[in-house]
Amino acid sequence: MAYRVEIDQDECMSSGRCVADYPAAFAFDDDELATVQPTVGNLTDQQILRAARNCPSRAINVYDSNGNLLE
Ligand code: SF4
Repeated sequence: MAYRVEIDQDECMSSGRCVADYPAAFAFDDDELATVQPTVGNLTDQQILRAARNCPSRAINVYDSNGNLLE
């Protein structure tokens, strides 16, 4: 994965979609808000873009290597 991934926890509605679909990359913290795991790098670019697009609250932000927001 060449992208950088961040979660805006102010936007996360705890749907669990990212955690369910990609448990190696996302996990809930103690407040049941999604966090990015260090192993997110194991996902392909396509998988990370899919995770961002599937987030119902658009809380997953994906940046390319130039810092441009992709999703
Ligand atoms: S899919 Fe989006 S709203 Fe659902 S847990 Fe993940 S970051 Fe939060």
